[in-house]
Amino acid sequence: MKSSAAVEILRVDDLDVQVRVSERRRQVRLTVERDSTVSVTVPPGTGQAELVKLIRSRRQWLYGKLAERESLSEGRPPREYVSGEGFLYLGRSHRLLVVETGPTDVRLQRGRLEIRQDVLHEASTALIAWYTRRGVSWLPGRLRPWAQRMDVVCGELRVRPLGYRWGSCSLHGALNIHWATMQLPPDLIDYVLVHELAHVHVPEHSGRFWRTVQRAMPDCNARRDRLRRLGPDLWLPESKT
Ligand SMILES: [Zn+2]
Repeated sequence: MKSSAAVEILRVDDLDVQVRVSERRRQVRLTVERDSTVSVTVPPGTGQAELVKLIRSRRQWLYGKLAERESLSEGRPPREYVSGEGFLYLGRSHRLLVVETGPTDVRLQRGRLEIRQDVLHEASTALIAWYTRRGVSWLPGRLRPWAQRMDVVCGELRVRPLGYRWGSCSLHGALNIHWATMQLPPDLIDYVLVHELAHVHVPEHSGRFWRTVQRAMPDCNARRDRLRRLGPDLWLPESKT
């Protein structure tokens, strides 16, 4: 690892870890921040292989902390893939309707979330693919005005599973948004987008970062609180995150 003030993102299995090198550190310090960002501060000269090994050895602790911090992982009732079960899309609940035939395996039709019987054996996969497709077509138009307002040139936007996090962003401005985000009301999706756009300017959750978020979205704290409270209502199948 180079010694510099820059933050590097190190991917360890399904975790993105923000790595910061500090001249003053003698030992590696691993932390989980309030919004579930995992970061590590290391002394200069720490090797990447060594760091990956250390992070892996503390996985249990990390996941415990992440579960604690992130309401996205708490107390979620399991869903059944039967007609009548409720699924959220853009903040509204839609009842599942199992149909025998249909043009696509999952579609939203007259307020019902239709799922074709022949994909029921892999219902969660089909539903995740549907949320992902909706995200891919809906999110870019939503992102554009925020990116303009915040003076961010966006790279690619991908919709994918992100474990415990709503979103992540690379230093080059590519955004990843969790497919589960598509269950949130639009104004909370905006908060997730603004948060990630602010990271293009400021990687770490510093005072400058939160000022950047607040400048773009003055009521960001209220939205963040609602996001925390809403998290547990979302559908997030255990093995597919
Ligand atoms: Zn963040």
